[in-house]
Parts: sequence; structure tokens; C-alpha cells
Amino acid sequence: MSKLYEEFQDYLTKINQYDHITTLLYWDMKTGTPRLGQPAHVDALTYFSTESFAMSTSEKMGEMLAGLTAPAEFDALTDTWKFIVKEMKRDYDRNKRIPADVYAAFVQAQAQAGNVWVEAKEKSDYSLFAPYLQKMIDLTIELTGYTDPDKEVYDALLDQHEAGMDSATIDGLFDTLKKELIPFVKEILARQKPENPALKGYFDPNCQRKVQDLLLDYIGFRKDAGSVGETEHPFTLNFSSKDVRLTNHYYDHNPLSSIFSAIHEGGHAIFEQNVNPEYDNTIAGSCRYMGLHESQSRFYENILGRNRNFWLPIYDKIGELLPPFQDIPLEDFYREINYVKNSLIRVNADEVTYCFHIILRYEMEKAIFRDHVPVSDLPALWNEKMQEYLQITPQDEANGILQDMHWSGGDFGYFPSYLLGSIYDGMLLDTLQEELGDVNELLKTGKIGEITAWLNQKIHWYGSTRKPKEAIMAVCGREVSAEPLVRYFKQKYSEIYKL
Ligand code: ZN
Repeated sequence: MSKLYEEFQDYLTKINQYDHITTLLYWDMKTGTPRLGQPAHVDALTYFSTESFAMSTSEKMGEMLAGLTAPAEFDALTDTWKFIVKEMKRDYDRNKRIPADVYAAFVQAQAQAGNVWVEAKEKSDYSLFAPYLQKMIDLTIELTGYTDPDKEVYDALLDQHEAGMDSATIDGLFDTLKKELIPFVKEILARQKPENPALKGYFDPNCQRKVQDLLLDYIGFRKDAGSVGETEHPFTLNFSSKDVRLTNHYYDHNPLSSIFSAIHEGGHAIFEQNVNPEYDNTIAGSCRYMGLHESQSRFYENILGRNRNFWLPIYDKIGELLPPFQDIPLEDFYREINYVKNSLIRVNADEVTYCFHIILRYEMEKAIFRDHVPVSDLPALWNEKMQEYLQITPQDEANGILQDMHWSGGDFGYFPSYLLGSIYDGMLLDTLQEELGDVNELLKTGKIGEITAWLNQKIHWYGSTRKPKEAIMAVCGREVSAEPLVRYFKQKYSEIYKL
């Protein structure tokens, strides 16, 4: 161990303490802080994250990274630390260019916009949110000008969420989906039977919590390294692989929402819990690629969770925990969770029409950052695209443009990650079946542990050390393609709808 390396480790430990507090404040703000206590939390969070940012972009950090990337020091590092140092140097050079006051303004605007968005959504009034959205857009453009001066803004944003992705690649993938799925959904809808009334009625939220716990345990979420909180919008965050937290919500007339949110967030959490623990508290230790992350949550939620066989070994148990399920035949439940219909809300959409919800948002973001469509025109553009892809128009803004929190946090370029995740899933499913055999058999016989172990070994263990395209190439042996996902949809839904 060189002296410089030791000094660097000490410095990282200090930064981690600030980051730990920032994460904890964020968790508390979302799960426990009362409304009037929020501003003080926002101040504290801004303080700690600005301190961490200042240390990460300090002259001292710059000198240490320059020293560690010089051949004499670099060659002595382990492969893991070579990756970490290289990535940190890249982040450092990018972040160093951001003036501290611009960064602080962004963090503050983010917190404010987040709070205003909640109110605007409650009142279904986009005009309250519009000025804050404008501010987030302006600050995002400004920040990107510092971090990625050579990149077009939207491509820079895509790359920030899914390293190595750009709009040319995504255009190609999404065009394939549009070409194949628009006519396919029309065929399905022509065959659609009336809505299934099976899941109507009252479902005790306390019983839903028990079902959630059963599901999390079943798919492999470890309780000694994780916990569950309650928020309106479910999410997952992690301190390290040993402390991963997720949230859920419980609607007493809609048990599917908590069930599928649990499986989805559980997928994210299982990823984080199974990263090589050597990477804890480093940038390698948590998956930084949103598409790759979503590929895991969506693999559990859709590829496994919307498969009939997933439920066979546990369906009776669910009936014991949530008694109304005793009167719902598994076949009705299966139909319900794969009921394809054009709907307003992304998070409630079936897995096929979900693609259109993302394509719409991707095109909206291109309109914002490429065509500079003014924020006042966005609701109309939203409604126009809803008509184009889903043939419905929202009755109000809460169920339209205000439904997602992402833009309030400045998370532009995030939405495509969800669909990229599903695209990777089509490919991962092919490879998993080549290596482990028929997924239906595995699920039917309760061998979900084998699937989780496979994902642990193929994807999770590597954390951030492989970029998404690299990870997919390493596991599947081919370039990213939307064809396996299309094939999966066609096979599954042709059977369900007898096409
Ligand atoms: Zn997710």
C-alpha cells in the first residue's frame, strides 16, 4: 500500500460519512418527516451533499487522482481499484467544471420542485409546477454544459443515466418496438374480452403487507440487509450491500399495485444486496446504470412475476394471508395481471402497452431539449402523443403530464432506461433458458432461487464495473437488440389472446 493510496482511502471514508447522512436524510424525508419539518431537512440535505460534492471536487482530490492515475501508482492497484480510480477521475474532471453555486442551486431547486410537484399533482394543476419545471430544465442544460461540453444535451443526459447509450441507438431499438407492437396491440385489443371483475373489492392493507413480505422473501430479498418503508411512490435506495431499503404503497381496492411494486423494488434491492461487498462505499458498489438496474427490477416484475408459473408454488399461501384471493382462481388472476389495455398511467400499464408510455416520454424529452418546446405547450403535446400511441386523452393533468415525479428531480433522460431494461430482459431470458432450461419449469417447481443465483452471478456481482452494453455482451454474447423482447411478447400474448 503506498502512502498516497492510504491517504486516498482515508479521504474517501470521510466523503462516505457525508453521503451516508445525505442518504439517511433523504430516506427520512420520504418516509417519516412531517410537511412542516421538510424545509429544515432540505437545508440539511443541501448542506451535507454540497460538502460531499466540495470534497469530491477539491484540489486535494484532484491531486490524489492525478497521482494515482500516474503509471507507477496505477500499475500497483488491483483491477477493481483501477476501475474505481479511472471512473472517479472521469467524474472529477466533469464535476470540477461545475461552479459550486450552480450545483447548490440545482440541489435546492430539485427539492423545491419535488415538493411543488406533489402539490400540483394533488390539485391537478400543471400551472403551479410549470415555472419549477422550467427552472429544472434550465439548470439541467446549464449543468450539462459544464459536465459534457462536447455532447448534445439530450445525448449527454441519456449517457448520464445509461452509460454508453445515445439517442441514435435508442431510436433504432424503439423504432423496432413501434413497428412490431403497434399492429400487435391492435390485434390484441380486437380480441379483448370485457374487463375481468375478479379483483374488485376490499383488500386489507395489513394483509397486503404480509403478502409483500412473503413475495420479497420468495424472490430472495434478504431482511438482515434490507427493510421496507411506506411512501406514495415506491423506490429503492441503498447505503451499501448490507443496508438496502425499499418502499411500497397499499391501496385497499387494488392489491396488484403493492404486489407488483414489491416485486419490482425487490428486484432493484436484490441487485444492490448482491454486489461484490468489496465494492461497498465505492462508485463500483452500487449499479450506476439505470437501464441495467431496471432490467433487474423488471425481470422480476414482468418476466417472472407475470408468468403463470411464478404463482403456482405460492398462490395458496397468498390466499391464506389475503383471504379474498381464496375466491380468485389463479387463471383469473393470471388474466388480470396480463390484461392488455390502453390506459393513462404508466406505472399501472400492462407490460406491452408500457412500451408506448416510455416512447411517449422519450419523445417529449427530445422535444424539450432538442426542439425547445416551451413548458406551457407540454401538456398539449402530451395529450397529442397519448392519442397517437394509446388512443386516449387524460381528463386532467394529474393523470396526464403530472403523473411522474422524474422531471421534478431533474431526472431527464431516465425514462428510456425502463424500456431499455425490458429490452435487455428479452435477451437475458433467452440466455437464462439456454443455460438453466425452461423458465416455466423452473418457476413451476419453485426453483426461483436458481434464477436469482444466476442473476446474482451474471449481473449483480459486478455492480458498476461493467457498462450496460458490456454486461449484455458478456452475458448474452450479442449486441443489444429489441428482437428477443418482441418475440417474448408475441409468444406470450398470442397464447393468452389466442391470436
Ligand atoms: Zn424501477
